[in-house]
Amino acid sequence: MGNLFGYTSDKSKLQNEINEYIKNGDGDNIAFVQIDTLPEYKICLLKKDNKANDEEIFEKIKTIGTPYYKYYAVTEGAVEKLYVATKEEAENVIAGLKEKNSSNKDKLAYVEKYNTELAELTDTETAVSKLYEKPVVQVTRYASTGYANTSQTVNTGAKVNLGITLAKPVSGVITSRFGSRGRGTHTGLDIATNKGTAIKAAASGRVTYSGTKGTYGNLIIITHSNGVQTYYAHCDKLYATTGEQVSQGQTIATVGSTGNSTGPHLHLEIRVNGIAQNPQNYLY
Ligand SMILES: [Zn+2]
Repeated sequence: MGNLFGYTSDKSKLQNEINEYIKNGDGDNIAFVQIDTLPEYKICLLKKDNKANDEEIFEKIKTIGTPYYKYYAVTEGAVEKLYVATKEEAENVIAGLKEKNSSNKDKLAYVEKYNTELAELTDTETAVSKLYEKPVVQVTRYASTGYANTSQTVNTGAKVNLGITLAKPVSGVITSRFGSRGRGTHTGLDIATNKGTAIKAAASGRVTYSGTKGTYGNLIIITHSNGVQTYYAHCDKLYATTGEQVSQGQTIATVGSTGNSTGPHLHLEIRVNGIAQNPQNYLY
C-alpha cells in the first residue's frame, strides 16, 4: 500500500486534472510529465467534518512528477549550437542564415529535444546573429578581359590628376592588377566578390553605356567631368540605363561573371580621355 495523498470528494474531477497535467504540464515548453506511480483511490467513510483537499493532492502529485521539456536544437554538422522553443523558430533561424548567405548555411539542421531540464532558449534574431558566418570569397585568378596591345590606350606611367574623387564601387579581393601581362596589358583592376554584390558608382556622372559589350560582358560606362570615365565590366544585373545621371555611391549594377570571365568579379577601369589609368593610383 502506498502513502495517503489525501481525500477527494470528486474522484473523476481530480483524475482529469492530473491527466491534463501529465499530458501538458503547467509551464512553457513542457512536452509531458512522467509520473511513475499514479494515485489509486479507495472509498472511505469519514466523519462529515473531514475536508476534501483536492488542491493539496494535486500539489503533491506535481512534486513526484518529472516534467519533460520539448524544444529544438539548431545544429551545425553534428554539434548542437543553440536551442529555440519551437520548430517554427528553428526553421526561421535556418532560413534567416540562408538568406544572409552565411557560410555554414548548408551544414545547418535542427532536432527535436526532450529533456527533464529546459535548455537556455535563444530568440530567432539573436540565434541568426550568433550563428552567422561571413561568406568566404574564393580567391582565384579569374580569366578576364580588358587587355590592350598598344600603349596608345594605356598609361602605365605616372599618375594623372583626375580632378574628381572616387569611391570604391565594391569591396573584395584583388585578383588581377592593372598593367603588363604576357599577352598584353590588363586595362583595369579585378576585384572578386560574391555574385549579386551591389556595384556602386565611383563618382557622380552620366551613364554613357549600359549593355553587353563583347568580352566585357554586361558593361556600364559612366562619364564624369574632366574626360574621366569609369568602366564596370562582367556585371550580372544592370540597373543604371544609358543617359541616366547617377550619383556617387548609387547602385548601378551587381557583380557577375558575364563576358570573358570564369568567376564573379568586377573589372574596373578608369580612363582619362580614353586612356586607361591604373585604378590603384586612386582606389584599393
Ligand atoms: Zn579585368
